[in-house]
Amino acid sequence: MKCTAETIFHKLSATYIIKEEDFIAYYVWLKTKDCFKVLVATILSQNSTDKSAIKAYLELERKVGVTPEKLSNANLADIESALKISGLYRTKAKRLKEISRIILERYNGLIDSLLNTSNARDELLKLEGIGEKTADVVLLTCYGYYGYKVFPVDTHITRVSKRLGIVPTNAKYSLISSTLKELFSAYDLLHLHHMLIAHGRQTCKARKPLCNSCIIKECCEYYSHRDGEAWRSNTS
Ligand code: SF4
Repeated sequence: MKCTAETIFHKLSATYIIKEEDFIAYYVWLKTKDCFKVLVATILSQNSTDKSAIKAYLELERKVGVTPEKLSNANLADIESALKISGLYRTKAKRLKEISRIILERYNGLIDSLLNTSNARDELLKLEGIGEKTADVVLLTCYGYYGYKVFPVDTHITRVSKRLGIVPTNAKYSLISSTLKELFSAYDLLHLHHMLIAHGRQTCKARKPLCNSCIIKECCEYYSHRDGEAWRSNTS
């Protein structure tokens, strides 16, 4: 990597204003401070934009209610109908109902009993439909404030990290996540997570990155290899 973590963090901070409505888990957390609702919101964002996931979430809250009791007692058809705007709504409806049932039965309806333990990540990963990214988003959004160190990685963060040269171009989720977590351990990881996604969406785009106007181009391996097609094609 060509710059320090401090330089990258401060340059991104000076460039991107994080709007809560661009990140569904953060939006729901700020509005409710309820980790179960954050979990539901994060599941809704799978294969969906944050914008349509927020619409689906609000519709679900309005039509059914987002609590373990209400979701596990609701008719599947009512949950599906609320989620129609979101991708894979039938699968998500089934999963939300099942996860709600498990949280109700095993944790007395209190998701904090699950999350407030040292093996919370492993427990979340046992639930159908919850992968590493979903588990890490929930843990960082709800518990990052208390020093719970995880780092969720999405497609934008993967691309940006590889292009910057923070990780090798063949790196997978766990390496990218642990590298970013270590490198930026002195900083607000939730803010960094949002800023890297904003950077990937607005500047470091998959097909045509806006390198000339990029605030961190002097930190970037991709930029310094911009004549090397082979290197670049591994990081798109
Ligand atoms: S210089 Fe280009 S490739 Fe590098 S981080 Fe900026 S936009 Fe992405």
